Amino acid sequence: MKAIRRFTVRTVLPETLSALDELAGNLRWSWHEPTRELFDFIDPVLWQESRRDPVSLLGAVAPERVKALAADPDFVARANGLRDDLRAYISEPRWYQTQPEAPRSIAYFSPEFGIAAALPQYSGGLGILAGDHLKSASDLGLPLLAVGLFYRSGYFKQAISNDGWQQETYPVLDPDGLPLSVLRGDDGSPAQVALALPGGRTLFARVWQADVGRVKLLMLDTDIPENEESLRSVTDRLYGGGGEHRLLQELLLGIGGVRAIKVWTELSGQPFPSVFHTNEGHAGFLGLERISDFVAGGLSFAEALEVVRAGTVFTTHTPVPAGIDRFERSLIEAYFSTDLLHGVDVHDVLALGTENYSGGNGDVFNMAVMGLRLAQHANGVSILHGEVSRGMFSGLWPGFDEDDVPITSVTNGVHAPTWTDPKLIALAQEKLGTSDTTAADWSSPAVSDSELWAVRNDMRAQLVTDARSRIKDAWQKQNPGVVVPTWINEVLDPEVLTIGFARRVPTYKRLTLMLHDTVRLKALLTSKKRPIQLIIAGKSHPADDEGKRLIQKLVRFTQDPEVRGRIVFLPNYDIAMAQLLYPGTDVWLNNPLRPLEACGTSGMKAALNGGLNLSIMDGWWDEFYDGENGWAIPSSDAAGDAAERDALEANALYDLIEHQVAPRFYNSRDKEGVPARWVQSIRHTLAAMSPVLSADRMVKDYVGKLYTVAGKAADVIAEDDYAAGRELAAWKATVSGGWSGVQVLHVESGGLAAIPRIGDELHVRAQVQLGSLTPDDVSVEVVYGTSRDDTLADTTSTALVPLADDTEAAPADGSTTFAGTVTLTRPGSFGYNVRVVPKSPYLASSAELGLVTVAH
Ligand SMILES: *Cc1c(COP(=O)(O)O)cnc(C)c1O
Repeated sequence: MKAIRRFTVRTVLPETLSALDELAGNLRWSWHEPTRELFDFIDPVLWQESRRDPVSLLGAVAPERVKALAADPDFVARANGLRDDLRAYISEPRWYQTQPEAPRSIAYFSPEFGIAAALPQYSGGLGILAGDHLKSASDLGLPLLAVGLFYRSGYFKQAISNDGWQQETYPVLDPDGLPLSVLRGDDGSPAQVALALPGGRTLFARVWQADVGRVKLLMLDTDIPENEESLRSVTDRLYGGGGEHRLLQELLLGIGGVRAIKVWTELSGQPFPSVFHTNEGHAGFLGLERISDFVAGGLSFAEALEVVRAGTVFTTHTPVPAGIDRFERSLIEAYFSTDLLHGVDVHDVLALGTENYSGGNGDVFNMAVMGLRLAQHANGVSILHGEVSRGMFSGLWPGFDEDDVPITSVTNGVHAPTWTDPKLIALAQEKLGTSDTTAADWSSPAVSDSELWAVRNDMRAQLVTDARSRIKDAWQKQNPGVVVPTWINEVLDPEVLTIGFARRVPTYKRLTLMLHDTVRLKALLTSKKRPIQLIIAGKSHPADDEGKRLIQKLVRFTQDPEVRGRIVFLPNYDIAMAQLLYPGTDVWLNNPLRPLEACGTSGMKAALNGGLNLSIMDGWWDEFYDGENGWAIPSSDAAGDAAERDALEANALYDLIEHQVAPRFYNSRDKEGVPARWVQSIRHTLAAMSPVLSADRMVKDYVGKLYTVAGKAADVIAEDDYAAGRELAAWKATVSGGWSGVQVLHVESGGLAAIPRIGDELHVRAQVQLGSLTPDDVSVEVVYGTSRDDTLADTTSTALVPLADDTEAAPADGSTTFAGTVTLTRPGSFGYNVRVVPKSPYLASSAELGLVTVAH
């Protein structure tokens, strides 16, 4: 029979063991190995059975064992020592405290957070990235407050039927059995946020709090009796429904999230954030709630919009237009024609999400477009993805070159203490004197080749053991009561070159590219001299039958008796599996259709463990492949069609494995069996990649490039009762209104010899009609660079200065003359043009208003 409700009865710990509750209650255990070892010591069997979850371990440990531990002074001292360490970690100054310019508090919104296997509130890369962001923010001491939803069933659990079809189940979580506590008001009753819905209904949510080291995570939950039955399920599962269900989740996340922050800051006395960061577009409504607050404080909508924009950071994660969240406009209209947001007109809301550019769809409300319009600061998640995003969203800044589109990039990173295997951390600690693997000197002879190789072998063996047990469990579940065939206990080989491939399975990731030529793949798998083995995992979105068919095709291939010992599909890819998978694979394979992988982070996690990457030049790999840390699969962008492209790229993949990867792995073995050449690549990868791929680098980049800039902009705009916000809104209206009168009448240049040389100066003069605007409103710029077929590339711009009216240059037609000089610094073809753009100290980019006038 199915249980309709679940709850967890906790063991009461004696006072002497109170440190354990404190340690279990802060998710830092998920990346703090000494704390995990303490829980393992309590009961190693239960620790494994609880899937390394301290709260459930403490809920299950036998009273006699508790008694014995309480009477063991060594254990009590160890627990107290770790508790003191946690308290110091939480309170002592860290990196952020050396950054005087950085903002006082940052809010970080995400629809999912992947922090620990025990808290399954994620579906894939976006959530894991958010979890890693919080952990590094904590390690670096950022005053970050995170906001998300609490999904009663999280994402689905995956099983695979005997004929290879994905099956989904949604086990219900018991929040009482998780390291969460309810946010309560001063009177002890649970704090609540409420959202007005159409038809006079109200959506209520309570707020769960999780401690992620120093970072507080607030999660809104609608499964409470105050809600009518249908609304209790708003937060039932991650990306569960479409349309209206999803809109309700996003309204709750954005609007309810800001309301939860108001409650939390008031109760805790902590400062209200000045910077709001939205991880992808789902939380975009947060800007509207903030606008509503400023309107209540006396600003107009336009003024409030400027104030909110100044402090908002938007990160886009998808290079595929189809991957963007869109709603029917009529649905948005229905939800915002209510009491939901006071002072915010539904037409202003609709305008923010309109795709009013060429190729846009007039019937939809686009969350990414709204995100960009509500944020003065925006970024993609790798250099290449920044470029792709500037192209993809360039319609919002018509008239500007793609390079000028105000979307920068911060390349993702991964949280090293979470994703580095304890065995490698122990090696660094023992031989290199630091448990920080991103700072260790991996090129040092203090670690010998054979020591490094021994750890790599251990990690591979550990993965093989785990994979066998997962396959066995899965087989038993699918075939209850049937004896497990012996071959299952012998799949995979701890000595064989192991290639890993795991990810969600949207089509562009090409899960089945490796099956392009099954004869060739079989030959690689079963080679006598240099065999490979493949470990594959991945979930398909429940509504994506195409993805499920790909999984099925792959699973059926793995069932072929000829290869089944060398290629396996592990069901239910999650953090717990991933933590063994990345360290255990020698090579991490990634073969998306370039440039559709925004960044990709699994390969980074492999690299942090000394794994080599074998990948299409996409996402992070396009930026970091250096010839020694792995192999680049050439992209056949020029191929005639998709099938030809797949064929070319698959063959390139087989060639690389056969002629480069496998020989490097199997050849050059010394008498102990250590492959010197391969180990050299491992060392190089650890030394060169660990620092730059770590989430600490990423979070520092966010602080330097985005949070500090946004925090300052927010402070400036708020001074003197938002004087600059009011001024900026009024100025934007004036400039937009008067822009049609701006014209470049005439450009002349001089100063160059017949054959210009480097170092020569080009003098430029432009006569500009400003209509109702003044010279202070604009920047007149000469834009120059290399010129190919009449278009400028690699451009630089230099501002021209207005000549005073009383000079001989003052034209009679009321226009203004601007002049300046450009020094030629590069040989080759040179071209220039003159453009006029709006200018204000409050703009983050001159493209911000989408206004530009170019000379003809
Ligand atoms: C890292 C990770 C992902 C994301 O990997 P990508 O390479 O970015 O697709 C997804 N799921 C889990 C469990 C992960 O650990």
